[in-house]
Amino acid sequence: MQYVIDFFDGSKEQNDLLGGKGANLAEMTKMKLPVPTGFTITTAACLDYLKKQEKVSNELNEEIRQHVRSMEQRTRKRLGDGVDPLLVSVRSGSKFSMPGMMDTILNLGLNDETVLALTQKTGDARFAYDCYRRLLQMFGDVVCDIDKNRFEEQLDFYKSKNGYTVDTDMQADDWKELVAVYKDIFLEVTHRAFPQDPYEQLNLAVEAVFRSWNNRRAITYRRLHDISDSLGTAVNIQEMVFGNFGTESGTGVAFTRNPATGEKGIFGEFLLNAQGEDVVAGIRTPQPISELEALMPEVYQEFLKLGHLLERHYKDMQDIEFTIENRKLYLLQTRKGKRTAKSSFKICIQLVEEGIISKKEAIQRINPTMVTQLLHPVFEPEYLKNAEVFARGLPASPGAASGAIYFTAENAKKASEQGEKVILIRQETSPEDIEGMVVSEAIVTSRGGMTSHAAVVARGMGVCCVAGCEEIYVDEFLEQATVGSVILHQGDTISVDGTTGTIYHGSIPYVDGDEWQLLETITNWAKEEASIGVKANAETPIDIQTALKLGAEGIGLARTEHMFFGEERIGEMRKMILAQNEESLMAPLNKLKEFQKEDFRAMFTLLKGKACTIRLLDPPLHEFLPQTVEEINHLADETKRTVAQINYRIEELHEQNPMLGHRGCRLAVTTPQIYEMQVAAIIESAIEVTQLEEDLVIVPEIMIPLIGSQEEMKWLRERLEQTIQEIFDQTNCVISYKIGTMLEIPRACLTAEKIAEEADFFSFGTNDLTQLTYGFSRDDSGKFIAAYQDNKLLKEDPFQHIDEEGVGALMKIAVDKIRNFDPSIKIGVCGEVGGDPQSIRFLKKIGVDYISCSPYRIPSAILTIAQEQ
Ligand code: ADP
Ligand code: MG
Ligand code: MG
Repeated sequence: MQYVIDFFDGSKEQNDLLGGKGANLAEMTKMKLPVPTGFTITTAACLDYLKKQEKVSNELNEEIRQHVRSMEQRTRKRLGDGVDPLLVSVRSGSKFSMPGMMDTILNLGLNDETVLALTQKTGDARFAYDCYRRLLQMFGDVVCDIDKNRFEEQLDFYKSKNGYTVDTDMQADDWKELVAVYKDIFLEVTHRAFPQDPYEQLNLAVEAVFRSWNNRRAITYRRLHDISDSLGTAVNIQEMVFGNFGTESGTGVAFTRNPATGEKGIFGEFLLNAQGEDVVAGIRTPQPISELEALMPEVYQEFLKLGHLLERHYKDMQDIEFTIENRKLYLLQTRKGKRTAKSSFKICIQLVEEGIISKKEAIQRINPTMVTQLLHPVFEPEYLKNAEVFARGLPASPGAASGAIYFTAENAKKASEQGEKVILIRQETSPEDIEGMVVSEAIVTSRGGMTSHAAVVARGMGVCCVAGCEEIYVDEFLEQATVGSVILHQGDTISVDGTTGTIYHGSIPYVDGDEWQLLETITNWAKEEASIGVKANAETPIDIQTALKLGAEGIGLARTEHMFFGEERIGEMRKMILAQNEESLMAPLNKLKEFQKEDFRAMFTLLKGKACTIRLLDPPLHEFLPQTVEEINHLADETKRTVAQINYRIEELHEQNPMLGHRGCRLAVTTPQIYEMQVAAIIESAIEVTQLEEDLVIVPEIMIPLIGSQEEMKWLRERLEQTIQEIFDQTNCVISYKIGTMLEIPRACLTAEKIAEEADFFSFGTNDLTQLTYGFSRDDSGKFIAAYQDNKLLKEDPFQHIDEEGVGALMKIAVDKIRNFDPSIKIGVCGEVGGDPQSIRFLKKIGVDYISCSPYRIPSAILTIAQEQ
């Protein structure tokens, strides 16, 4: 079994085996880019190690040695050599990027002897000892589990003792002294001296990286991002290049396009005279990459060129780690850059425009949940004007949020569990903080740049973040944040604007953000690919407008009962419900008819001939009844009856099982006047709107809810058609219309071919169908669904994701029966699951013609369908 592969033997397709980092180092090596030489120990080796209870086999050790020897030949250096020592980094890297979750060790191969050789060779003792102390620090942390702070404290102490402010103030002798101190820490904690043998260092480091696959923060991260625990990590061994070799050297991270906004052009940061993680850790605040142009123009140009090359090669925006050693540029990592939803959309559109990817590929890259993120909240501008600024920092991840501040992940988590909206504020975040970051509305840091841990993680999660607010002094111990003389304590409320980088006192109302334009472009492309339609569940003008803007091809469900709420209307509704004779019924019905006509006219006008399915009254009447004493008194007044009479009628209408009771078409069987009124309102408004706008063709689709048998459907249809005919006669106008039904009663599914004789179209009402198939009350199932899930009796809530096995089987029967009878009959879905990507995939498979969902879910529904082609 070959467990080790040289960079020049691998390729980007092998990320299973080499991990993302290793595969891309191999790919860049193949592309002849300036990548320090090295090799990858595969994920298979890691899994084998973990399986064998953490034992490195002799074979693997031998393989590693062979590859080190071949590296020595290529570099003409030797591991542990007293004149020209080879130094390497040991870098973790699994299939999926898990930024900062696992471990990396730099400068491995240094010991008391080789550090002298390095000094000799470079003539720079400051540099050599800086490298050595870094090795001690990282090796101590990763391999021996020595608390990083032990080292940091000593460094801080040393600096303040000598009046230094930054690391670069440290001179050769300072580092030398610190190296001695660090070695003491080693001895004290591990009761062993720091291992001087480079091969021992290497073996221990490789094992530690293997083990880091199972450290707590890596496990949490995997849970969070749905990454399998069984992948393992690869280990990359790579020759060191040095960004800490004076001011002609440096290290940095850059994106080939802006990861927050998607704007074109290189975007990133670097630090001169620094190594490795100094940039991402936020220990020093880095310079923007644009400043490199003035400092080292030829390096900057080279970097632009390579970035462009990589982007073309990978056909996507790249996140590149680089190091400059004495004005020579090296690439140390490239990967698909994490980005905000907005940036994703923008970059996809740009890549299509630049001819790098096709529209089809662009659609595949947009994850339906990004659509939600795209519509980020922003603070209400009026309130913002009067808001008091607390501090400003870098706009690291867009959005707006208010909440109470907490200084540790742990406290943030606790407070959030109590139901509080929390904002995590820290000097800088590290992977250990991940659990606190997940629950936060916003994240604020006082140090670190746009690519710091906080910024990257927040953008990935779509959480608002302001990083590098240097003016805030964050005291995590005292739990306070200070700007000048203003002090905030744990629990105080702030508002964070991640789009501008401003932090305000107190809480500020916000409105949902809109990036409709970007969304529109992608949705339009997706529509070209989508094989089934997406309509909206909407009835108010605002919702209809939103739905159309978001790509709906019509209304799949207008719930007329929604039009009966509102003070004046519900009054008439109540009068109608309480009516006990024809006369007292017709007066409120006629008033309601006028309201309905007004609404329908507005709908038809907005829809401009697009499909419109209107459902007749559906819910049980008790939903409209007066609840409070005042309401009852008021109604008694209005209808000139006694309170006792009203109460008596309410009593009469009471049902044990209202959802199974007197509702939907059953209401029409006892009181057909209601549906007749509604149908008249629909047809009359359609005629009126057509008369105003000549070239408009309106074909209203009238949908009857809760049909369970052919007989019901036939009986109602005849009556309604009679009403319609009367209108045609009176107005001397004839328009086309359709009368169809919901499929929401199991019996209707099982006899669908018979109902189809009377129905022009169907639409599945999955909420009721699920309720009736499972026998779970949709209003009460919340009380037990969670327990079902805990006991693994249910995988998912069937009201959120379609139950394919049961409800789905009924649906399939119905579809087949209807198609058998007449393949041209349109079948839709208008339940809650119509907007759920997972359910949509299933619904498409069983062959429905369209789905209908709430307006904000339309773009992701269209995308889901387009992606399934
Ligand atoms: P992470 O997965 O946390 O990003 P990396 O393995 O990429 O860890 O290492 C972190 C940083 O260490 C890199 O960005 C790079 O700056 C530095 N580094 C790693 N290997 C080398 C090397 N061979 N030479 C110089 N710097 C290196
Ligand atoms: Mg790391
Ligand atoms: Mg990296």
